Amino acid sequence: MNLLIFAFIPLILSLGIIPALQSEILPNADAIKAKGSSLTETNSKKVCGDRLCSSISENQSISSSMMIKSQKGLFSSTMDYTVTGPEIDPDKGYSVIEIGDGLYWLTDGMYQVMFLTTGEGVILVDAPMGMGTKIQQAISEVTSEKVTHFIYSHIHKDHVGSSALLPKETVFISHIDTAEHLKKKNDPQRPVPTVTFDDEYTLKVGDQVLELSYLGQFHSKGDIVIYSPIHKVVMAVDLFHPNAAPFQFMGITRDVGEHLAVHDKLLAMDWEIIVSGHEPILGTPEHLKFNKEFTLAVLGNVITAMQITQPSADYFGDLANKCAELTVEQYSDLKDIEVYPVENCVTMVFYAMID
Ligand SMILES: [Zn+2]
Repeated sequence: MNLLIFAFIPLILSLGIIPALQSEILPNADAIKAKGSSLTETNSKKVCGDRLCSSISENQSISSSMMIKSQKGLFSSTMDYTVTGPEIDPDKGYSVIEIGDGLYWLTDGMYQVMFLTTGEGVILVDAPMGMGTKIQQAISEVTSEKVTHFIYSHIHKDHVGSSALLPKETVFISHIDTAEHLKKKNDPQRPVPTVTFDDEYTLKVGDQVLELSYLGQFHSKGDIVIYSPIHKVVMAVDLFHPNAAPFQFMGITRDVGEHLAVHDKLLAMDWEIIVSGHEPILGTPEHLKFNKEFTLAVLGNVITAMQITQPSADYFGDLANKCAELTVEQYSDLKDIEVYPVENCVTMVFYAMID
């Protein structure tokens, strides 16, 4: 491996990869770094500094929330949950919130689920392994309808490993890649989907409509985006963490290019709330924009590291460490910034150097 890295250094230098990266990426990343992250949000309750937003005081929050009118099917209180998560009853271990007419958000403070009542049964998106029977218990608090349709956001067991607890006659829906993966896995906790699609699928049940689409592999195999145009709510799981640093290796993304592209594709869509799958809060377009800026800034820090780091036996490791140092310094007040800075830089080093 060391020899391999040494082999790359002269190649990288001779091919002029660094200048090419600089001209392609640096203007964007530098522009972001230079202006900071001016994320002053309209119509929300965040005070934004030069790097990220934080919630304002409780009293201010209450008066602000009263000013936000319910619109496009969203309840005013929902917007508060883009700043501070709902209280989780320690006995129950979850909170269930109606985001808009018949569209609910269920969270245990770490994982997130979305479900819709339709008048003809419940559509459930994801069933995290750790939430188990609490999911159907939470649903029964708000409706007498049973789950009739289940949508896999993606393959990962931590998000869908309780789906086998649903009624046997449930229709399981996923991207075709998810179905192929689950067939191979033959995992009793993740039933093989019976309805699959490649690019787009519209699910109409009762009075609800969900548009499912494949926008690219932003995190794992068979990632899909679940969109309710009526509510202006979208769900994209494990793409990013609102108001926090990414999970390790940039959310263990398999393709940084597609990962970044999906940020743009989502931002071009008309929605106000994003269910991200993690964190105690709901996300907004501003959160997603911030994550894109953060990702480009990490890339910028890799390029900076490339300019000042001498060749060594662990050149890629040295680049990642320098990038991590720069990133932590730059985003010192971002939640979880110190959890995976090196791992996130490792992903961006490989993207910048050899992808
Ligand atoms: Zn995942």
